[in-house]
Amino acid sequence: MSEPTNVNALFLGPKAENYPFFREMLNYLMDDHAQWRRHFHPDDAPVVTGEEQARPDFLATLQQTREALIELAGNLQIHSTPWFSPRYLGHMNADTLLAANLGYMLTLLYNPNNCAYEGSPATTALEIEVGRHLAALMGYDPQKAWGHITSGGTVANYEAIWMARNLKSFPFAIRAILPDLVAGLDDWQLLNLPTARILDLADRAKEAGLFEEARRHSVRGTGMTGRNLGKILVPQSKHYSWTKAADIFGIGQENLISVPVQDDYRMDVAALKRTIDRLAADRSPILAVVAVCGTTEEGAVDKIHEIVRLRDRYEDRGVSFYLHIDAAYGGYARSLFLDEDGGFMGYNEVGRRHSRQGVLDPDTDWLSTDVYESFKAMPEVDSITVDPHKLGYVPYAAGAVVARDRRIIDLISFFAAYVFEKTDDNPMLLGSYIMEGSKAGAAVAAVWMAHRVVPLNVTGYGRIIGYSIEGAYRFYHSLLAAGPIEVGGRTFEVIPLARPDINIVDYAFHERGNPSLEEMNRLNQAIYAECSYKSGPIYTNDFITSKTALTREEYGETPGAFVAKFGLRSGEWEALGSIYVLRSCILTPYLMGHTTYEAYWANFMGAMGRAISRICEGA
Ligand SMILES: *Cc1c(COP(=O)(O)O)cnc(C)c1O
Repeated sequence: MSEPTNVNALFLGPKAENYPFFREMLNYLMDDHAQWRRHFHPDDAPVVTGEEQARPDFLATLQQTREALIELAGNLQIHSTPWFSPRYLGHMNADTLLAANLGYMLTLLYNPNNCAYEGSPATTALEIEVGRHLAALMGYDPQKAWGHITSGGTVANYEAIWMARNLKSFPFAIRAILPDLVAGLDDWQLLNLPTARILDLADRAKEAGLFEEARRHSVRGTGMTGRNLGKILVPQSKHYSWTKAADIFGIGQENLISVPVQDDYRMDVAALKRTIDRLAADRSPILAVVAVCGTTEEGAVDKIHEIVRLRDRYEDRGVSFYLHIDAAYGGYARSLFLDEDGGFMGYNEVGRRHSRQGVLDPDTDWLSTDVYESFKAMPEVDSITVDPHKLGYVPYAAGAVVARDRRIIDLISFFAAYVFEKTDDNPMLLGSYIMEGSKAGAAVAAVWMAHRVVPLNVTGYGRIIGYSIEGAYRFYHSLLAAGPIEVGGRTFEVIPLARPDINIVDYAFHERGNPSLEEMNRLNQAIYAECSYKSGPIYTNDFITSKTALTREEYGETPGAFVAKFGLRSGEWEALGSIYVLRSCILTPYLMGHTTYEAYWANFMGAMGRAISRICEGA
């Protein structure tokens, strides 16, 4: 076996510790690229001569570039957020992988466009390759699956709905073109065919040479006007891209149904079942069910195994829906569970491997059976969104969508995709299968470099994300055990929202004796202001967090249980319906880094105490 991945060698580092290596690689890639230019028809005369390069207007133009760059650098330094620092405990950001950054920078010089093979022979092939990596990460058969890089999770979710919508309408197209194939099936039955069955029908249409005509009779030809293709069921914790998707795809907000979450912010599967039962009783079709692996606000992992079981049971009873997982955030965490051969490890083996690696402490009570079973069940769903630019530690813009059965892309492509399916090296006109047009091959190369250097299993990404979970758990337990902060005779305490399923921790501060939720919200808003760009240049902040409001509008009465922990006057949640919480996505592997975790925590609480005392003085 090769040497295990050393996480500290993977990033530039909070103090640019690995800068000498980075600079060496930058020199290499610039030199290498310059050679590439020079060796293209070496006998061609240079366009820019030495004489010209000495002219004053030439030098002045270079000076303009220099000044613009210096201006930009200053702007970036003042206004950028130091994602790289372990003091950054905010959004889904951290240091990005050296390998990915170098891959991006090198490829940028070649500027490939992955819309068409012609513009990107190298990086189109890499996009297909990383699509397979991600399919394998999700437990799909990479030969049968389809995956590619999008600009982000938002567009990946759009592509999933695009596939689901066109799939749902396809049986009606078959009835119009090849009625014998669906003889005896009524509208309700056509709306409830399982995914694999519909894709088999598509195969029959291809064999009959009628696929193009069938596509014209599906929703892509007829539009959404004619038929009700059904509701989309999402948890209350959904990302707002689903709200936008309902609009863009002509589904309508009234057909986007929010299923309640429980106190742990996972979708309430019993409530999902009740919703499906109610819809089925009304003969109201379900276009898709979306589960979330790593909710944006809480990092909660929906019980995917239970939702898959539900899907299977309903399918036996003639009620079928497309099942998608929005794992934009949590998808790469599946590497925590995979061994070197890509096998999904047994429950006890996961803990053993991580403690043997010295990453996750054996006493860390992270891995619940629900989280384990959820990740295990992921290959059972139709498609998955997974963002390299989140837990893949890759620079923007890199999301991805993977589908279990690649035949499904023929339902969205504007090209006879299936004609080219047979061989790997056939020109792939990506632009005809995807939402976007021109797109950066550099982003794809960054993902490829990341996967090349960091194995998508317990030894690679499993280590980085393992460190981040270890940090998140220590932070969570510290919050649970935190003593009060005393400021000028006033006493403040902090309570975490929920036990994290992966590495996002939400929490709120409260002044002991304060009866008002509104007052408590004001305190946390003020703390957020102290820990964000709002308090002036972020470069001078001790810590940086993000925040969110958990509102009745989004979450129903669920946040009331958290509000009740603060001992406010009764009826406060009922009256206000909104609680403001601080949110720390702990992607950094460095929380235990420079000194010790205990010192880190003491530093954090010290900074919170100073922030609160500034707030008290200001008020
Ligand atoms: C971040 C996120 C998205 C959107 O991804 P972008 O890359 O920001 O477009 C969608 N769903 C979930 C659960 C997310 O966390």
